[in-house]
Amino acid sequence: MRASRFHISTLKEAPADADIVSQKLMLRGGLIKKLAGGIYNYMPMGLRIIRKVETIIREEMNRAGAIELLMPVVQPAEVWQETGRFDKMGPELLRVKDRHGRDFIIQPTSEEVVTDIARQEIKSYRQLPKNFYHIQTKFRDERRPRFGVMRGREFTMKDAYSFDRTVEDAGKSYEAMYAAYCKIFDRLGLTYRAVAADTGAIGGDKSHEFQVIADTGEDAIAYCPTSDYAANIELAEAVALVAARAAAAQAMQKTPTPGKSTCEDVAALLGIPLERTVKSLVLATDTDKGAVIHLLLVRGDHDLNEVKAGKIEGMKDGWRFATEAEIVEHFGCKPGYLGPSGMNKPVRVIADRTVANMSDFVCGANEVDFHFTGVNWGRDLPEPDLVADIRNIREGDPSPDGKGVLAIQRGIEVGHVFYLGTKYSKAMNATFLDETGKPALMEMGCYGIGVTRILGAAIEQNHDEKGMIWPASIAPFAVVICPVGYDRIEAVKAEADRLYAELQAAGIDVLLDDRGERPGVMFADWELIGVPHRVTIGERGLKEGKVEYQARRDAAATPVAVGDIAAHVK
Ligand code: ATP
Ligand code: MG
Ligand code: MG
Ligand code: MG
Repeated sequence: MRASRFHISTLKEAPADADIVSQKLMLRGGLIKKLAGGIYNYMPMGLRIIRKVETIIREEMNRAGAIELLMPVVQPAEVWQETGRFDKMGPELLRVKDRHGRDFIIQPTSEEVVTDIARQEIKSYRQLPKNFYHIQTKFRDERRPRFGVMRGREFTMKDAYSFDRTVEDAGKSYEAMYAAYCKIFDRLGLTYRAVAADTGAIGGDKSHEFQVIADTGEDAIAYCPTSDYAANIELAEAVALVAARAAAAQAMQKTPTPGKSTCEDVAALLGIPLERTVKSLVLATDTDKGAVIHLLLVRGDHDLNEVKAGKIEGMKDGWRFATEAEIVEHFGCKPGYLGPSGMNKPVRVIADRTVANMSDFVCGANEVDFHFTGVNWGRDLPEPDLVADIRNIREGDPSPDGKGVLAIQRGIEVGHVFYLGTKYSKAMNATFLDETGKPALMEMGCYGIGVTRILGAAIEQNHDEKGMIWPASIAPFAVVICPVGYDRIEAVKAEADRLYAELQAAGIDVLLDDRGERPGVMFADWELIGVPHRVTIGERGLKEGKVEYQARRDAAATPVAVGDIAAHVK
């Protein structure tokens, strides 16, 4: 590629609304251009990187036996109604109407459509296993799009879906994808950690997130440096919560008559320090079977007998009610986490925030695993501090595997593998005929990679004060040739053209900066853009048969004989 025929558009300063380094550098380097909140143009320089990421993903998916297809961005509501997600999903799902008033959605993911394909195409056990994937535009109307491509509204995802005959086979598909993801993220040159994640209603232990380690990550990871325990913070908290509940249940058995429960009681029952309880207690209850479940915020002490008797109406003063929909929609916490707890057992609460700052705590119901994380009771509370916002588990807490203590890191979720079981096949009646000729539900798994998010994650990990530093496998160009005086010095032009042709012939992704810019301008651009190898051709060096070579991380350039440069940049 010749720079004069490409589109290079760099900025000295990042726009004022850019928050983190990757976003600033991508905008400054002309990789992306903002069109609207969370919606970006991928400019030619950025698209080259995206295509390279996609190629690595595609190669490894194909190698792992997955089959590429392409499912539509715009999908009819009907299939989404079959699984109930059309209504359940909340405002993140962008719903649109066609000219006839029929409902459609812009896909945030594709379980419904792929299951619809499978139920029509797969008739017999002989056609299984199958793993279909695509690399496609997604739209999620995120509550808070930010950090550039990191949390966009429109973004590109690779999503794969496996179909198997049995739970055991589905486990093999899962393992194959897990292994493929390790290869992908290795090839992408990222430092990452695969961490166990919550499986929600599905249960089991088959959900892992691939987290790129970075202080600016929105996620937190708990891991044990002396064992292989690693989980995302939500799961680690849930585990801690379950353990605390078990301890509390034991303690409760010793005190069978529920009565007034204070912070001190809660702290004693759960064996946690008083400051890790809140003065206000969050309770979950279902007032009567099938009715809306309320979350109640109680200020001060509360009488469990009164709550048990359903006298919550009488306790208006200082109480706050929120419906499930309100909480899920407004506070952005996980849906489906409200338990059918009732108030037949003592209420247990774990939270470590003070009343004054009631954001992002975990509130417990009476059933194992039924709790909210990330509950935020304030409408206009400031965004929690990214690094300090680590909740109920702390560095140094015992690791759940008993093999040491926990350490905590921030991470960026770039991939997610998830065993789905028969959740979708059941809802959509996706069956096949098994060996005995009987219909059976397909066992499914889903596997996502945030293609465009990877760009941001790679930069968060690889940059310096001059700009981005691309891992060789996904750099927009492998080598840039910077001739000093291309437009005016014949010998420089001749050598630059010759080297350009030589590297091209060797299959190297080379860019010739033939813009005739001053060295300072060229160097600043290519250091900002982060091309791994730079070759500078100057009149004086050429007289001695030398050019200057500098790798992006090198402090200075090295003179290299003209004939040896190809070996340097391979
Ligand atoms: P997050 O927790 O960051 O919201 P998610 O768990 O909702 O992500 P998944 O449904 O697991 O995301 O989707 C698979 C992958 O798609 C994620 O691992 C992530 O890399 C990517 N992804 C999800 N949401 C976005 C987004 N808004 N912008 C860019 N990439 C995203
Ligand atoms: Mg999300
Ligand atoms: Mg997530
Ligand atoms: Mg996820």
